Amino acid sequence: MQNHILEIDNLTVSFDGFKALNNLNFTMNTGELRVIIGPNGAGKTTFLDVITGKVQPTEGTVRFKGRNLRNISEHHISRLGIGRKFQTPRVYLNLSVRDNLDLAWVRRKNVFATLLTSPKKGDRRTVTGLLETVGLTAKADLKAALLSHGEKQRLEIGMLVAQSPELLLVDEPVAGLTDEETENVGNLLLSLAEHHSIIVIEHDMEFVRQIARQVTVLHQGSVLCEGSMNQVQNDPRVIEVYLGKAPSVSAEQLLILRIAAAMAWADGNFAPEQMQVILTRLSKQFASDPEQQAELKTELQNYLSQEIALEALIPELSSESDRLQVLKLSYEIIRSNTINEYENRVYQKLLSLLDLPEHQVKSIEAEIEAGFSSLSLDDYLQQ
Ligand code: ADP
Ligand code: MG
Repeated sequence: MQNHILEIDNLTVSFDGFKALNNLNFTMNTGELRVIIGPNGAGKTTFLDVITGKVQPTEGTVRFKGRNLRNISEHHISRLGIGRKFQTPRVYLNLSVRDNLDLAWVRRKNVFATLLTSPKKGDRRTVTGLLETVGLTAKADLKAALLSHGEKQRLEIGMLVAQSPELLLVDEPVAGLTDEETENVGNLLLSLAEHHSIIVIEHDMEFVRQIARQVTVLHQGSVLCEGSMNQVQNDPRVIEVYLGKAPSVSAEQLLILRIAAAMAWADGNFAPEQMQVILTRLSKQFASDPEQQAELKTELQNYLSQEIALEALIPELSSESDRLQVLKLSYEIIRSNTINEYENRVYQKLLSLLDLPEHQVKSIEAEIEAGFSSLSLDDYLQQ
């Protein structure tokens, strides 16, 4: 229990009777990096507003390190060790990068002075160290106005860290950033996560994949589900709230689809032939009449995502028949164009993860080889 930095029980926030948060329960361990996702209006910003004391709960409690935050002012909560980074950077544009960090640092020292305590050991960070952490050493003497949007985001994260919060709340840090800056911010958060508890609110799924260990999905003011990114993305309820309609396939079928996509992406090149194998084979398998199959093909295409680790997906397959199906489909996928060395390595990894009897593997491979050698890909798929 004492290891929970944050405990939220039955939290409801009503605005004129409308429940922006509705009986929400949430706990987070000290040292955890947690990502919160959810469609627009799910209550994510309100969730942060309650934790920081900007909004008071209508019902329920928020505890930070065991302490009930009810009726504690925003200012006081921030002194207790909760720091928040808003979506748009709030840095002093006319000051240099170093001066911005200095200012945040001095503010922290003043807080300590007023509290007549001193920073904990290991908590002490020099401005030089911070510049390094946020990757802005080379730009230390530039005016903040000259930084790119991504660099400003990193600077502001640095300013937040200068105040040594124990819990960092970060609202959509990569909105509008380039891929490279997104990765930089992700790496920065990962390195900060070594010494802080962090909640990140985010929309960008690839970014979530880069940083996430544990993901919480909010929907209509409550927690819809929690788990690894893979678990969450394979949850039909999550797909439903994101796409606005329930998937017509089961969670298990979605998992097979994702493994197939991971195989096809193995060499970083998702060839059109491979896409065709996946969509044709699975739509035939999951639906019986041709009209449904055609619809399903379009739907399945929406669920294809990239760069998922097989190690995380395969253990979630619950039956041997599913594992056989994955083997068959995966072999067809890599066989549908020239197998390169990288694909072969990933296929070998897949085999060891699937852990199927050797004779079964050989006979499935032989069967598929026979089909391919006598037919074109299109004919093969029509079989
Ligand atoms: P998210 O950040 O997930 O998009 P919000 O927390 O901003 O969601 O909002 C959740 C719901 O609460 C939305 O329907 C929003 O319109 C409503 N809401 C948020 N703040 C207020 C407020 N101050 N007054 C009335 N309704 C609000
Ligand atoms: Mg919001």
